[in-house]
Amino acid sequence: MEQMDRAYVEQLERENTALKAALREAEEANQAKSRFLSNMSHDIRTPMNAIVGMTAIGLAHIDEKARVHDCLDKIQTASAHLMSLVNDVLDMSRIDSGRMVLNSEEFSLADLVHDVAVIVRPQAAQKKQSLQLRIDGIREEYLVGDPLRLRQILVNIIGNAVKYTQDGGDIQASFAQRPAPDRKKPAVWLDFICQDNGIGMSQEFLERIFLPFERVQNAAVSKIEGTGLGMSIVKRLVDSMEGAITVDSREGQGSRFQISLPLPISPAVRREPSLPLGQTVLVAERREKNARQLAAYLEQGGLKPVPMAAGLQAVTWLTEAQYEGQMPCALVLGQELIDMPVLDLAAHVRQLAGSDFPILLASEDDWAQIEYRAVRAGVSAFVPCPLFPSRLLSTLSSLTAGTGPESRTPDGQEEDYSSFRILLVEDNELNQEIAMEMLGMTGIQVETADDGAQAVDKFRNSPEGWYDLILMDVQMPVMNGYDATRTIRALPRPDAARVCIVAMTANAFLEDVRLSQEAGMNEHISKPVDVDRLMKILRGQLRPKAAKG
Ligand code: ADP
Repeated sequence: MEQMDRAYVEQLERENTALKAALREAEEANQAKSRFLSNMSHDIRTPMNAIVGMTAIGLAHIDEKARVHDCLDKIQTASAHLMSLVNDVLDMSRIDSGRMVLNSEEFSLADLVHDVAVIVRPQAAQKKQSLQLRIDGIREEYLVGDPLRLRQILVNIIGNAVKYTQDGGDIQASFAQRPAPDRKKPAVWLDFICQDNGIGMSQEFLERIFLPFERVQNAAVSKIEGTGLGMSIVKRLVDSMEGAITVDSREGQGSRFQISLPLPISPAVRREPSLPLGQTVLVAERREKNARQLAAYLEQGGLKPVPMAAGLQAVTWLTEAQYEGQMPCALVLGQELIDMPVLDLAAHVRQLAGSDFPILLASEDDWAQIEYRAVRAGVSAFVPCPLFPSRLLSTLSSLTAGTGPESRTPDGQEEDYSSFRILLVEDNELNQEIAMEMLGMTGIQVETADDGAQAVDKFRNSPEGWYDLILMDVQMPVMNGYDATRTIRALPRPDAARVCIVAMTANAFLEDVRLSQEAGMNEHISKPVDVDRLMKILRGQLRPKAAKG
């Protein structure tokens, strides 16, 4: 009897301990949630204050143009910050609740690295920092994964290095690959390292760096804009990709982030670019390492590189080659020469060799910044650095095959779309007004519908080919955008399948993109609408029609 009592008491005690532990866990989770919410509302309040305050000041000084301009500038900055905060919080909640679906699609590592470079280079340039992006022994360029999320990880890490490093500092980011024999499918480990010589972090902070809203508490960091969510998102993304992330840092000396991700190799077979095999290519580059890399890639493509470090030497060599009828098939310009700027050499060679001779510029510079001068000097095409062999060889192939340069199309803003007609489907009046204003800048004709059912009616009652494009909100009363798209696509008229339908939604998640694709939409824009993205879509969808018409 006594024994039974003891057993009973012991069981009660065990249950009690378990209950206490569960209670503690629940309390901790609750506290974490409250902390999260209070941090979040504080972080939302700060930019909201700026928006509300600056709007009031602007209204009070509505006749003073400079003042209003200044207010609008500040409102724009604060809204961008608010937007990124909201996106980050949504991202976190998606990941935490297991609702985030990682895409599994083929992507090019070259495109990924260049996309990242385009985003981070201007930030580093603004702080006069030297930002080096290197690739090291990349054998597999086409991989399978989620390029958008990968970009988010890389931009976050390099963006932080730029943010938390003083003006004039150094940042080095490198990409390398090693085989991953332990994986089920043929795969590689992608190793990314980002090192800066910035303000660094204490060992004590490093233990908390991946927790949401954690930021180093000091005067230097508090002046830098941030939410403390970036690193926790990066950590969660890396975890869900089955990768690993480590950080080393010393206060006042700098930080080093290392990420390793396993990525399957794309099984798709690629067509080799057709090149004039065995022909010579003149390579003008003073920096030895770059020149060696260019030469190695050209040899890989079956071409014979002739390296030159000086412009004058290159011109003399070309003059002789021309005299002997032994012209190379192209000139590849690198970053710098001993005796002249590379664009000066381009100009000399263009004069000497005539207008059809391919001149390629392989440069770390931002093409948008140098395009005007480069094209004027006679450069036919541009290949961005870090240099991937596929990019160099396919551009050379397109030039030597006479198909012309790929990056010459000017990205002009002032296209005329007045012959096109758009149906803007949007239930919210303010959003309709904003979209009308943006579209108005292009001269395009805009008709509106307030919900999906109205859109279907308008389309049904219009003559064939009346609308060139439909901008379709997704969440609307009466009939939503997905149903409206399906109904339009099913109409028995030839333009129902053809008309371009672009989803406009407040959600920017991949599932939404997938859903809109499944409903039959061609493109997807998230709200608030980014003018540049809208213009890009218009250009992509309408320009080919203009060329045909
Ligand atoms: P934030 O939006 O504040 O940049 P993150 O989550 O990206 O948030 O980073 C969290 C904190 O970690 C930053 O506020 C900063 O204090 C610290 N941190 C991140 N990267 C670096 C770096 N490269 N150098 C120094 N501190 C860094």
